[in-house]
Amino acid sequence: MTTLNADPSEIQKFSDLAHHWWDPTSEFRPLHEINPLRLEWINNRVSLAGKNVIDIGCGGGILAESMAKKGAKVTGIDLSDKALKVADLHGLESGISVRYEKISAEEMANRETEQYDIVTCMEMLEHVPDPTSIVKACAKLVKPGGHVFFSTLNRNLKSYLFAVIGAEYLLQLLPKGTHDYAKFITPAELSQAIRNADLQIDGIKGLSYNPLTKIYSLNQDTSVNYMVACTRPF
Ligand code: SAH
Repeated sequence: MTTLNADPSEIQKFSDLAHHWWDPTSEFRPLHEINPLRLEWINNRVSLAGKNVIDIGCGGGILAESMAKKGAKVTGIDLSDKALKVADLHGLESGISVRYEKISAEEMANRETEQYDIVTCMEMLEHVPDPTSIVKACAKLVKPGGHVFFSTLNRNLKSYLFAVIGAEYLLQLLPKGTHDYAKFITPAELSQAIRNADLQIDGIKGLSYNPLTKIYSLNQDTSVNYMVACTRPF
């Protein structure tokens, strides 16, 4: 028996909010707003159409559904029953088919080793006790030559001010306690974990929020939110 790499209070936090998941004005507004940006970024690097994709920590399915809409065959996994239930119901409503399952990334990696062309793991690593174990599981799920995409929050004074103080306290975009600063991950730390998992880094992109215009954009500023594109060498 291995212990589950999950923090029950983190899962609970998302379960408690899950009924709001698809409300674009709710706590999940930031995910709705960044979704088209990250979706295009992924799809421009590797066309999603016809690909076998797994989304790790899929929550209510915002990214998972959007990738399926681009023609990918998508599996979404998470440990929150409620989030998965919301994801399933939304799929019935939208008519976009995604296979959802409650299973850990590590267990899925043992069961479906090297089954996926693309693995996505977005806004999730900063909520788990051991993110390096999730990175390894993603590397195991992807086929040789396949692609893995991560996103998370950087750890520095600016990310503390923007992601915790700004988003949770000043702008109230997110509920207080959504993010634990100590769990934020610097690009250097994530890069190390990625290399240790024998993945190759192809690109890093910043995703930033302008509180004045209230607009998110992709750029080279990785100081708060950032994404990393990787491939698994043959
Ligand atoms: N990836 C989605 C949702 C991000 S919210 C998106 O970007 O739109 C973070 C999600 O991670 C929540 O659904 C939460 O339940 C899930 N999560 C947290 N810890 C997890 C773990 N150890 N294993 C699987 N999912 C986890």
